[in-house]
Amino acid sequence: MAPDHKTLEILLHGVGGIRYLLPSSKEFDTLSCGYVKNSNTPLVIFRPKNENEIIFCVQFCISNNIQFAVRVGGHDLYGRSTVSNGATIDLRDINYVNISRDRQRARIGGGILTDTLLEHLEKDGLMTPVGGVGTVGYVGWATLGGYGMYSPSYGLGLDQIIGARLVTSHNTVLSADQQLLKVLRGGGVGFGIVVELEILVYPLQDSLPAQLSLHPALFNLPEVGPTWMTAFEWVGPKTKDYQIWLQKLSKHNLQIDVKTTTPLQHLRASTAMLPHSVYGRPQSVCISHWTPEAISILGTHGSNMPDQHYIGLTIHQLHGRACELSLLPNIWMNRSPHFLVEILGFASSIQDADKAIAWAKDFRKDLSAVNTALESSYIAMTDPSFLNLNRIYGEEVVKDLKRLKMEYDPQGNFNHIILDVQEREVVMGADVE
Ligand SMILES: Cc1cc2nc3c(=O)[nH]c(=O)nc-3n(C[C@H](O)[C@H](O)[C@H](O)COP(=O)(O)OP(=O)(O)OC[C@H]3O[C@@H](n4cnc5c(N)ncnc54)[C@H](O)[C@@H]3O)c2cc1C
Repeated sequence: MAPDHKTLEILLHGVGGIRYLLPSSKEFDTLSCGYVKNSNTPLVIFRPKNENEIIFCVQFCISNNIQFAVRVGGHDLYGRSTVSNGATIDLRDINYVNISRDRQRARIGGGILTDTLLEHLEKDGLMTPVGGVGTVGYVGWATLGGYGMYSPSYGLGLDQIIGARLVTSHNTVLSADQQLLKVLRGGGVGFGIVVELEILVYPLQDSLPAQLSLHPALFNLPEVGPTWMTAFEWVGPKTKDYQIWLQKLSKHNLQIDVKTTTPLQHLRASTAMLPHSVYGRPQSVCISHWTPEAISILGTHGSNMPDQHYIGLTIHQLHGRACELSLLPNIWMNRSPHFLVEILGFASSIQDADKAIAWAKDFRKDLSAVNTALESSYIAMTDPSFLNLNRIYGEEVVKDLKRLKMEYDPQGNFNHIILDVQEREVVMGADVE
């Protein structure tokens, strides 16, 4: 049993200089709020500043029987970075960036947000692939896969990971060996707390490889209603290829607004279009290509979309270098070109959430039945009730993951995680619907 509030306050006198916040603190609500709101309220939020403080927090929780979850950006879509009546270990104060002398690698703090990362790199004339939203935590994004507009040019987020340091439940900090690095590339963080990643970085100049990314989306625009829009994102200089693609687009009678930008400016512009937080539950489906049937499902559900805010759909595309087999060992199985359709069953109020959730579920059901739908799904965006690890990773990899879990976290202290090989045993093999 976790201690009650009074006992906890007494115990917390022993944590020395480690910053913590109780529900009575002014900043508590802001700091505990995630992107998708949920009813989990932690007893305490820790804000460790370094590895030793993280070790202390983990030990404090284990020895006082307090469940804990790790949080960075708070963008897990299913509330897995908070635990009711438990502790949140919030890493956001560990957000350094140390660039190597050869300017090809960087060591980054495990609590860094993607905006902060790009801000540091851009000051040094560098960049690295990121997703579309600056408030997402880099470690959570990259270790689970990491789709984004730069993946056709540089590979996925996981393809950038070349080193990691972790605090495990054995109370040590270890440098990940090759087998741990392999599962961190695509398996997320289930074996400990990632205090540092070493990643690949690239020059931010005209030498960027040129690639086009299409980013279609459906949103309910105020006074306009459901509207399809597509961002054409060209990563690189204005080469001949760029001109050819621009001409192709011009033929479609589209109003084209061309903006030259930097990765950081682009990230900030797309983040600014999103609400700070939402209610609801998203769904996702991966499909290999668009058939008339799949397109008609988009049309039908798009026009049935409840008339409310924050609901919608976005489509990520995997192509280019992200589809090449990475030289770095990893457990990502979904390298074939595909589209990740993210169905945003979101609402601005709790009252509207049920309608949005039901719309997203129906949409998913129909789209996942088309013959180009992939069996595998993107773990970060898979509703836990549809999660099937064997389909995502294959049985052999799941066995390896279980073995590693027993090695690094035999007591199951890191349980509030996305890749929960222990709990999933009950669900595996069946698509619970
Ligand atoms: C608005 C929005 C936009 C998104 N855009 C994209 C996108 O463009 N591409 C894409 O691929 N995905 C995208 N995602 C999915 C996102 O990448 C994942 O949900 C990611 O895991 C979020 O990480 P976080 O740190 O922000 O969230 P958190 O909720 O803080 O963390 C997510 C999970 O990772 C664990 N974790 C995080 N950091 C650490 C660490 N250092 N050590 C140990 N455990 C850790 C947490 O415990 C939790 O289980 C998006 C999600 C949202 C809500």
